[in-house]
Amino acid sequence: MRFTFCPLFSGSSGNALFVGAGGTRILIDAGLSGRAVSEALNSIGILPETLNGILVTHEHSDHVKGVGILSRKYHLPVYANARTWAAMERQVGTIAPSLHREFETGESFFLGDFSVMPFAIPHDAADPVGYRVYCGACSVATATDMGYFSAKVYDALSGVDILVLESNHDIDMLHANERYSAALKSRILGRHGHLSNEACAEALWMLYQTGVRHVVLGHLSHENNTPELAMRTVCEAMQAHGLVIGRDIMVDMAWRDHVGGVYELE
Ligand SMILES: [Zn+2]
Ligand SMILES: [Zn+2]
Repeated sequence: MRFTFCPLFSGSSGNALFVGAGGTRILIDAGLSGRAVSEALNSIGILPETLNGILVTHEHSDHVKGVGILSRKYHLPVYANARTWAAMERQVGTIAPSLHREFETGESFFLGDFSVMPFAIPHDAADPVGYRVYCGACSVATATDMGYFSAKVYDALSGVDILVLESNHDIDMLHANERYSAALKSRILGRHGHLSNEACAEALWMLYQTGVRHVVLGHLSHENNTPELAMRTVCEAMQAHGLVIGRDIMVDMAWRDHVGGVYELE
């Protein structure tokens, strides 16, 4: 079965990832306005009303901003764990009980043709998760908003065919940023903050050794990173391990402000 994987938006200003295969189509997060997410879906030929559901990673507004609007407008089921439901209630507004889906972190569930595994990530939210989605012999994943690359996350991502992996900030740019308070800097750099370019590169090298061959860098900070710097840091680290980019491993970018690549795999 052919998987379609498209990071619609990725970054501190809003996240939404489209995953489709067989007769099943889902969004992971909808962290922009309902209109922006609908237009992005339309631009890759997907009508929002044909989605089977929206999966929520955690309650931060860059992940849930459009969830309520899209669910109400297109009657889309929303999937989240209990603590995320409680934490996001005020932001997403009323979701009809018939569209309310709850799962347990760490327990996989079926959604149409997909088997979905929500796994815990270290981040300062109620019960944040990443997702790995299986269909046939293939799987795709997203893992952003992580203070560090935990053993649990490593296990959850081993051998995945393609993933969005966080490459949030350059540590030096963050330290030098005068607009960020010391408290905000230590939150981002902390164990429940965000993954730096350097930490992303280390994580990717570990994942390469489990068979991962395609990564999309995501959730870049607008202020403390640039796509060029993230790409260069990760690629240079892979090259230092003797890998040839484009032959041994594919490294792509998910964009903050426009629809990313549409990746097809089977
Ligand atoms: Zn985020
Ligand atoms: Zn977050």
